[in-house]
Amino acid sequence: MLVDSYDRVVDYLRVSVTERCNFRCQYCMPEKPFSWVPKENLLSFEELFEFMKIAIDEGVNKIRITGGEPLLREGLDKFIEMIYKYEPSVDLAMTTNAFLLKGSAQKLKDAGLKRINVSIDTLKPEIAKQIAQKDVLKNVLEGVDEALKVGLKVKVNMVPMKTVNANEITEVLEYCKERNMSIRFIEYMENSFASKDIKGLKSKELLEILSAKYEFSDDGFDGSSPSHYYTMKDGYRFGIIEPYEDDFCKKCNRIRLTAEGNLIPCLYFDEALSISKAIKAGDIKAAAQVLKEVIRTKPEKNRWGGDDAEISSRAFYETGG
Ligand code: SAM
Ligand code: SF4
Repeated sequence: MLVDSYDRVVDYLRVSVTERCNFRCQYCMPEKPFSWVPKENLLSFEELFEFMKIAIDEGVNKIRITGGEPLLREGLDKFIEMIYKYEPSVDLAMTTNAFLLKGSAQKLKDAGLKRINVSIDTLKPEIAKQIAQKDVLKNVLEGVDEALKVGLKVKVNMVPMKTVNANEITEVLEYCKERNMSIRFIEYMENSFASKDIKGLKSKELLEILSAKYEFSDDGFDGSSPSHYYTMKDGYRFGIIEPYEDDFCKKCNRIRLTAEGNLIPCLYFDEALSISKAIKAGDIKAAAQVLKEVIRTKPEKNRWGGDDAEISSRAFYETGG
């Protein structure tokens, strides 16, 4: 079992398979980065899988594939199949913008993927175009339909932003409810790569909007999920991710691996240790040692909130959110 210095059990690994993306979301990667990680620095799927085995053997039971946009990396289904065959009980999930999902959902499901999270910030084509800087909505919605059709469980992530999509919060919630998909509203997390003019909605403002239309109860937190849950009168449940709240990190159970092999203990901070050299040399012991060191140095909490609040200098497209 992996336990950090604050007695938190770490059993969840998020793996970014590429930092590249086919969208340019205003809150994440509004401009193409000055340079991408050179292809030769990326870990191959076989190398990433070597690390997945170490992590699973040490107690990781949930793996989420993310990016950048994970569907841009060829052979993803084979990577999923490797993990699934090694340990079928691992909760295998992916976060995607769904643009390329229509043609790949069945293949991913057959490979062993169980669940996906899709980012849907709007149901208006022109607003989607404004956020992603590309005409994306039709493909995204078709991708979601296809995922549901092939039997993948789908959760939706929405980042509510003032003057952009705040007036669509109930519409997106209804869209999810009609399709039996849960929704999580993610507070915009300030980072130095995002467009400067974004103003995210805090959970209090979001709840004000929702309570004008719905009655719901506050369920608090559930297990190690970072979501604050609420249940509506008809039983539909929605979540809010509130990284600015003081106790947000109390039950954090996750670490992140980038496509070039940097193991990151906290989404907010720049600190990371590389597993690349150890994995490329086939030194399992050394890679496991790096994993344990990253767990040992996992910070107590982020610095988005509190008196010494600062924006993060870590790119979301690198860590996978
Ligand atoms: N490309 C995929 C996607 O968009 O779902 C996966 C990677 S993306 C970095 C993962 C999640 O991070 C998405 O749900 C996205 O909305 C969220 N995200 C990105 N930048 C964010 C920010 N500044 N604040 C809050 N959430 C953010
Ligand atoms: Fe790409 Fe996802 Fe970032 Fe949007 S949020 S730019 S889709 S990685």
